[in-house]
Amino acid sequence: MPSTEDSGARSKPSLPWALSRGRRATIAALTVTAVLTGTALFGAGQATAERSAPGTDREIPNIDKVKEQIADYYGDVETPDGEHYASPKSDYAKQVRGIAADAQRDLKRDMAKEHEKTGHGHKPAIVVDVDDTTLLTYNFERQIGYNFDPKLQDEYLRTTDMDAVFGMKKLVNWADKSGITVFFLTGRSEKQRDWSVRNLKNVGYKTPVGTKHFFLKDEEHPPPYLECGADCTTVQYKSGTRKHFESMGFRILANLGDQYSDLKGGHAERTYKLPNPMYFLP
Ligand SMILES: [Mg+2]
Repeated sequence: MPSTEDSGARSKPSLPWALSRGRRATIAALTVTAVLTGTALFGAGQATAERSAPGTDREIPNIDKVKEQIADYYGDVETPDGEHYASPKSDYAKQVRGIAADAQRDLKRDMAKEHEKTGHGHKPAIVVDVDDTTLLTYNFERQIGYNFDPKLQDEYLRTTDMDAVFGMKKLVNWADKSGITVFFLTGRSEKQRDWSVRNLKNVGYKTPVGTKHFFLKDEEHPPPYLECGADCTTVQYKSGTRKHFESMGFRILANLGDQYSDLKGGHAERTYKLPNPMYFLP
């Protein structure tokens, strides 16, 4: 956890705010001039409908401090050979275990209701994402400085197993034993299938991970049920694949993912957002 001292320091302005009116006015005038003359130079930072350019540096978290906070949140543990893992006692671990437990409680209730009914035609299922939903990328992300690189990802997946996300293995294995089909649905590419399957099995996911249960993004040969083909956004790819599961007679009781793009687009009765402060995928 960040120390109280650190938190206190962050909450205080780092520059004196008690500037004279005249001094503030001068700064404001300079800023306007910079905006008027610097549009071409600073165009990328201008306000848009989705985001606005920070007016001062104080609106921007310091990137090194954010990395420290991430390490604290995951309860960073360094091994003698320099690998970094999340602690099972970390706040991250507590949070994701809580979400997995909530999902299991809701699914138990769903399944009890299902058993009360007679003649229902739908097969219960859940959909889970892979990175930072069932497998934890923390060590990899830290190694690459939180700056994604597909070649480094290939190398990591080929050579290294990621840990299971706390609580998720228990949820997934319980669901499978309870008659709920588990679909893994990931933005990882089809060519990363074997490495991903090996990893899931090695860390204890016991549910089927063959081609009928594990869906990766195949941009070379997109499946016919995806109308957007190789040009799907993440939301189109994921919601379109869930729609495909429904068309096969599955009722998706729960959809779990660490990105909002995993969860948007419908075709699931409930969604569960897992935490991920390391990256954002639209
Ligand atoms: Mg993910």
